[in-house]
Parts: sequence; C-alpha cells; structure tokens
Amino acid sequence: VFDVLVVGGGPAGAAAAIYAARKGIRTGVLAERFGGQVLDTLAIENFISVKETEGPKFAVALEQHVKEYDVDIMNTQRASKLVQVGKVTEVHTASGAVLKAKSVILATGARWREINVPGEKEYRNHGVAYCPHCDGPLFKGKRVSVIGGGNSGVEAAIDLAGLVKHVTLIEFGAELRADAVLQRKLRSLANVTVITSAQTTEIHGDGKIVNGLSYTDRNTNVSHKVELEGVFVQIGLVPNTEWLKGTVALSRHGEIDVDARGQTSLPGVFAAGDVTTVPYKQIIIATGEGAKAALSAFDHLIRSDDE
Ligand code: FAD
Repeated sequence: VFDVLVVGGGPAGAAAAIYAARKGIRTGVLAERFGGQVLDTLAIENFISVKETEGPKFAVALEQHVKEYDVDIMNTQRASKLVQVGKVTEVHTASGAVLKAKSVILATGARWREINVPGEKEYRNHGVAYCPHCDGPLFKGKRVSVIGGGNSGVEAAIDLAGLVKHVTLIEFGAELRADAVLQRKLRSLANVTVITSAQTTEIHGDGKIVNGLSYTDRNTNVSHKVELEGVFVQIGLVPNTEWLKGTVALSRHGEIDVDARGQTSLPGVFAAGDVTTVPYKQIIIATGEGAKAALSAFDHLIRSDDE
C-alpha cells in the first residue's frame, strides 16, 4: 500500500512526488507519459529562475529530479478507475493492475482541443500555438489569428493585441460567445479584426513556418485567405478526467473541483495542476499546486488514526 500514489507524471505530478518522498513516506507515480504536455512544447521561457529551456529537456529534468528520491515510477500505464474501499483508495490501470494507497493525488493534466484542419499538426510549434501566455511573445510585431470566440479566445486576442502587429479573431458561430465586457474591450482595440460565421479550413505554410490561414464564410460559402505568421487555437482545454466521472466531483467543464488545499470531494484524494479548477494552466502553477497537494496528503496521513 502506497502512502501517496500520484496519478500523472507532468509538472504537477513530479512536484507532488518529490514533496511526498521528501517526507520519507512510500510514494508512487503512475503516468501514461512521464513529462506530460511539456514533451510537446518547444521553448519554455517563463519557468522562473530558468531563463530559457526546451520542453523535452524540461521533461528529462523533471524525471531526473524525481529519481533523486525513492519514488516508484510506473510509466506508460494508464489509470482507468478510482475506487474507495474504506480508508484505502484503489487506482485500477488499463492493463488490469490494482494499486492501493492511503492517499491519492490526481494530476492527469489536460489537452488542448485541436481544430483538425490540414496544416495544424505540421506547423505545431512552428506558428501554430495553443497558449498565449507561453508563446505570445514569440509573435511580437507579427500578424496572428486566434481561432475561437469564447472567453479564452477573446482573452487571448486582447492579450496578443498588446504584443503583436495585428490579430484576426475567427469564430465559427454567428456571434462571439465571450462575456460582454470582454467583447467590448476587444472591439475597442484598433489592431483586431473579428470575423464571425467563419470555418477555418486550412493553415498554410512554406514547409517550415506558418504563412497563412484559409476560412470559408459560412453565409456565402466563399473561401478567403489571410496572410499571417501565427495561429492560436483557442477552442477549449479538455481535462483528462473521463476516467473519473462518477467518482470525484467535477466542474461543468470536467475539471476536478478542489479547495485551497487541493482537497477533492473524496477524503484522502487530492488533485493538482491543469486537471483541476485552479485557473491559469501553466507549468509554474502546476508545480506549485503539486507541492501543495502533497503537503495536504501528508497532513491527511498524519491525522488518520489507522496505525
Ligand atoms: P500535464 O503536463 O498535462 O501532465 C499530465 C500527466 O498525466 C502526463 O504524464 C499524462 O501522461 C498523465 N495522464 C493523463 N491521463 C492519465 C491517466 N488516465 N492515467 C495515468 N496518467 C495519465 N506552460 C508554461 O508555463 N510555459 C510554457 O511555455 C508552456 N508552453 C506550452 C506549450 C504547449 C504546446 C502546451 C500543450 C502547453 C504549454 N504550457 C506551458 C502548459 C503546461 O505544459 C501545462 O500547464 C503543464 O504541463 C500542466 O502540468 P500538469 O502536470 O498539470 O499536466
């Protein structure tokens, strides 16, 4: 039986594992892909004290740091079910194993919803981006488009408008879906064009980097091309909680509801990082939340009177 079993090996899970192991308690990490989203990231310039690094390098550093401690790492294993039996929480894996723990930290992260048009995959990290806080500064003085007119898309467009030369916001529906106050702010910006009823059909490039985007006007069926250097896809961040439905309480967006200590709706089960309701999905925030969840799990263990 683990004292702390961490599910997820991204920045949040790695931080949780290190904080737990430093308490001298039996710690395990179960991860489908150790490293998490940073494996898909090129430049990281906002992890404070590390001026500049690359995602895969950062992932290796995460793993090396965890391996400094006595942590049982179970990589390429997917959790498929969470079951509480008395004071013990079981994590079932897709391969049929059952792991038991006195406390569990859920850190399964999230994934960006893709638009699935030609060019998106080819130019990912070469003009196609998903995170304005991360990659916005790379497009300083350039022309970009934001796909998606919900709150995150409109926030991204407002944010980017202060950095880039011009922003074209593209919304599939007839109207933007963002809060009115954000829409007002957006419309007040001189370097933003809003196009609604537009279906993005392709992201173009020169073989190396993005140089344009095509969309079809859904009212007229006429196709248009916009010349630009960057495309931010903002059609949603999906938390990896499908396997948790019916166990821990989730928000209406499917994120795990946590309190200020990372406690979920189940006793002894904590959560951290992009998978939770904590806003702003960033590495530095995920690591901080992971550390916090581990300290909360430790606090839970010393207060449990089972031995
Ligand atoms: P994740 O990194 O998503 O890790 C989740 C972990 O859980 C993974 O190990 C995954 O395999 C595992 N997992 C998922 N489901 C299961 C399951 N059922 N069973 C077992 N394991 C499971 N942030 C920044 O701060 N700066 C940046 O420059 C930056 N750039 C980014 C660029 C891109 C392209 C992307 C996609 C994200 C970027 N981010 C950046 C965001 C940052 O990567 C995330 O905020 C951060 O990785 C969240 O960490 P996490 O540990 O919560 O989740």
